[in-house]
Amino acid sequence: MNYVFTPPAVVSVPVVGSSQSFAVHRVYCVGRNYAEHAKEMGFTGREPPFFFLKPADAVVPVAAGATGHITYPSLTKNFHHEIELVAAIGVGGSNIQAADAMKHIYGFAVGLDMTRRDLQGVMKKEGRPWDIGKSFDHSAPIGPITPLAQAGAIEQAAIGLQVNGQDRQRSNVSQLIWNLGEIIEHLSAAWALAPGDLIYTGTPEGVAAVVSGDTLVGTVDGLQSLTVVVD
Ligand code: MN
Repeated sequence: MNYVFTPPAVVSVPVVGSSQSFAVHRVYCVGRNYAEHAKEMGFTGREPPFFFLKPADAVVPVAAGATGHITYPSLTKNFHHEIELVAAIGVGGSNIQAADAMKHIYGFAVGLDMTRRDLQGVMKKEGRPWDIGKSFDHSAPIGPITPLAQAGAIEQAAIGLQVNGQDRQRSNVSQLIWNLGEIIEHLSAAWALAPGDLIYTGTPEGVAAVVSGDTLVGTVDGLQSLTVVVD
């Protein structure tokens, strides 16, 4: 093929214990999927799950033991962290039943759904798309992917985020409103999932702003931690 310009490089995430890399296809995110976070955003009750996407090249892969760097984004004065468990899809499919979901998951990683909260808030109020608040450059840092078999009891894992050594978010994956199987069932009814898809499963309570110079350390028990500095 003779392209009019050099095609962009494939975005890929390191895999723990492997020289192979996980090539990213799409990035799906679940909104308001922990009850205490839904409350802090002004919502209560169990609403049907809803989704938004980030472009694959918004992903900032960070190798094990490394520190990733993200640029403080333009236009915002309220740049928020959202620590999330990320499921990496290895086997695609449509209309996947919750009970079969694990067969489609390659592994898990720690991710950050970075958010321009002020811009998202304006778009929400006006009933407009969230993209400017959610889907910007560097908005999806992610640590290395741990294959499913080595990830332990991920559905009961502690999840947390520290900023400059101080606790900001602390919960447990068991607190998800819609669990991994249910997320994949709903998502695959709306889109055909494909190998390489990443699913950011939602953030617990404690979201707050970061500024240039802050160091974020995200953890999910059983997975490699994720360290990111805001430049
Ligand atoms: Mn989120």
